[in-house]
Amino acid sequence: MSSEIHDVVIIGSGPAGLTAAIYTARAGLDPVVIAGEPSSTGDQPGGQLMLTTEVENYPGFKDGIMGPDLMMEFQEQAKRFGADIRIDKVTKVDFSNRPFSLWVGDPDAPEPTLKANSVIVSTGAKALMLNLENETRLIGRGVSTCATCDGFFFRDHDIAVIGGGDSALEEASFLTKFGKSVTIIHRRDELRASKIMQDRAMANPKIKFIWDSTVTEILGDEQLSGIKIKNVKTDEETVLDVTGMFVAIGHRPNTDLFKGQLEMRDNGYLATKAPSSYTDVEGVFACGDVQDSTYRQAITSAGSGCVAAIDAERWLEDQH
Ligand code: NAP
Repeated sequence: MSSEIHDVVIIGSGPAGLTAAIYTARAGLDPVVIAGEPSSTGDQPGGQLMLTTEVENYPGFKDGIMGPDLMMEFQEQAKRFGADIRIDKVTKVDFSNRPFSLWVGDPDAPEPTLKANSVIVSTGAKALMLNLENETRLIGRGVSTCATCDGFFFRDHDIAVIGGGDSALEEASFLTKFGKSVTIIHRRDELRASKIMQDRAMANPKIKFIWDSTVTEILGDEQLSGIKIKNVKTDEETVLDVTGMFVAIGHRPNTDLFKGQLEMRDNGYLATKAPSSYTDVEGVFACGDVQDSTYRQAITSAGSGCVAAIDAERWLEDQH
């Protein structure tokens, strides 16, 4: 069986991938989007916005829009211009020769499922979670992984932030603009964050610290009503009455598929030749959170999807 050959295959269907799909489809490149499959580890076609509730900072929606509805709009817009969106998972790639080879489904199949003259990688990143019962269910109902996105909804709330790195301290400082109180819960008695962030957080009168403690239970039916924490040195358990909990224990880019194929930075994110979306393999472009450890917003992700589409289009034009 011979593989289909396409000009552009896009891996991933969050704001970056679907923006790349809209642009390449309008450029007449007939993109195929391998959108991903839902999995127990939180993978989602549509990306991280599928796990959020209201999005109020995406320009163009003055009254806000639900995350899944926004992704549906992206998808319908891409389809309108002919993008071929497939709910499937790429399991293996070979970028050593052009056209590039991609396997969907069985990675041991002798022939790749698809061949592509160019590939746009937009597989996103995952916020690391505590993996406690109720955590995923209460996302958007008091539990969040993004203060920039959701802080506004927590005006006058008592908020807990979990983690001891730069993200946790940055999120905590940001949340003091809205919350009544912000308590950082860290599993050790020493922070991982940089000195400057530590100094800033310690000097903020709205921020308290609970040291040597982990969250053992997330409480609440419809909305978060509190968390149970345990001191790891004394085993003492207490309940903290918070109605907001921000998990800030790091992110992981979805790059397993590209190990040995694409260059990655020290932190595991794909390396791109900024301001372009070029990777170290000519003809493979990367956009969205898989290559952005800094901004991680739907709008920056969408913007970089547009960059990747234009890069791919121009590169293909040069090749032909
Ligand atoms: P990070 O540096 O990896 O810190 C993660 C924190 O979460 C650590 O304190 C870790 O505890 C804790 N943690 C991990 N797993 C946990 C678990 N299961 N339960 C409880 N706590 C857990 O991640 P990050 O803060 O997201 O930062 C990632 C990178 O981005 C870093 O290089 C950081 O400097 C950078 N960054 C920079 C800025 C800035 O400069 N403005 C802002 C944000 C991020 P331990 O310390 O005990 O391991």
